[in-house]
Amino acid sequence: MSFEIRRPSPNCSPVPRNEQLGVCFHHTVLSFDQTLVRMMDPASQVSYHVIIALDGTRCTLVDDDKIAWHTGSSVFMGRSGCNNFLLGCAFVGDTYVDPLTSRQLESAMDWLAVRWHKRGWNASNMTDHRQISPARKNDLNPVEWKRLIARIKARFPSP
Ligand SMILES: [Zn+2]
Repeated sequence: MSFEIRRPSPNCSPVPRNEQLGVCFHHTVLSFDQTLVRMMDPASQVSYHVIIALDGTRCTLVDDDKIAWHTGSSVFMGRSGCNNFLLGCAFVGDTYVDPLTSRQLESAMDWLAVRWHKRGWNASNMTDHRQISPARKNDLNPVEWKRLIARIKARFPSP
């Protein structure tokens, strides 16, 4: 079981309600503490729903039913404005420099597990920033995305 803390970020929109149709994964090149500072700063105008430290500790910044500001210009499932319908989950660390840690992967599975069936998600509802904002963003490293989605498919097999 991974450790979870809460640090409500001001950088979110309470309405409309987040549709929670899936998850966009990110990495953050800042440290866990530096990322928290940035998410708590109204001037940054950025937030994720959750960030996952190298040791698997999770910090919830924005409640699922609110809109976090993590995607910017983006398209997924034929729709733009992905913040309105995707949750944002960020891993600490540059995935082009270091692979996701096994504790990060386990923590992400724990975080997904309490949402997966309730939301009716399957693997096709999962994406990353690179795929929905291809010209602008490179997170995650495609190698790490393949590891992550393989882990997700193994943990949550399609019926
Ligand atoms: Zn990103």
